[in-house]
Amino acid sequence: MKADIVTIFPDFFRGPLDHGITRRASEMGLAKIAVHDLRQFTHDRHRTVDDRPFGGGEGMVLKPAPIFECLDSLGLASREERIRGRANESVILLSAQGRRFSQKIASELATLDRIVLLAGRYEGVDERVMDFLADRELSIGDYILSGGELAAAVVIEAVTRLLPGAVGNEASTRQESFTAHEQHDEILGPDSTCGSGGLLDYPHYTRPADFRAMPVPEVLLNGNHDQIRRWRREQALRKTVRNRPDLLEGASLSNEDRKVLDRIKDCLN
Ligand code: SAM
Repeated sequence: MKADIVTIFPDFFRGPLDHGITRRASEMGLAKIAVHDLRQFTHDRHRTVDDRPFGGGEGMVLKPAPIFECLDSLGLASREERIRGRANESVILLSAQGRRFSQKIASELATLDRIVLLAGRYEGVDERVMDFLADRELSIGDYILSGGELAAAVVIEAVTRLLPGAVGNEASTRQESFTAHEQHDEILGPDSTCGSGGLLDYPHYTRPADFRAMPVPEVLLNGNHDQIRRWRREQALRKTVRNRPDLLEGASLSNEDRKVLDRIKDCLN
């Protein structure tokens, strides 16, 4: 996959892209990430990328011209082709007003050949960028950042780790929080249903088995795989009920899960 980031702070990405899986994916040739300095697409002495908003109001707005020019230089398919799914590419505007980014969207993006991430600044980006250039507007959560750079790094990290071969043990990315069942059914056997299925992940422990008088749950030490699976699944359900009950609605739940849920809910009442 190719990923392009358009920003007025190209140096910002030195840290996030140079570590862990993103770095590994680049070194392995799975992801080719290019960072483009928006100011290189300006034509005045001050390399101006922003201007005052029409209609008045606070702050400055990123001008459309440098962004359109930068994207012209990337040789992408037209917006219409991208929207109609005729091109395996997406141009994404990072924006607090966008659709909420999720694991599902990350998996969708991981199937594309190319993604372009536009990082806004100031009061935002001239709306013509969204209306005529980008094909998606994504938000990473209901809060306001000062710029789209962190959001772009979040999207890149979440997508890159889903590229086949990026994570050593591919099955592990299929069992993580939020991952819907249909995305991992073909990889995991029927006895692996402790995996997410749209729930939060189950708790993980490692050595030592007893740390400062805090022992690991006994069931994880007994080697009985069915008991371990049941326990993990119950813990995933408990955590989801406690922290993200909204996820239960879209989760793939077995009859066994539903019985456990009833038991958990009875205890809460
Ligand atoms: N005036 C905008 C609003 O109220 O929605 C906020 C602009 S924000 C200060 C500047 C830039 O940060 C945005 O153009 C966007 O690129 C980025 N940004 C801020 N919050 C974000 C979020 N939650 N998700 C993605 N990008 C965000």
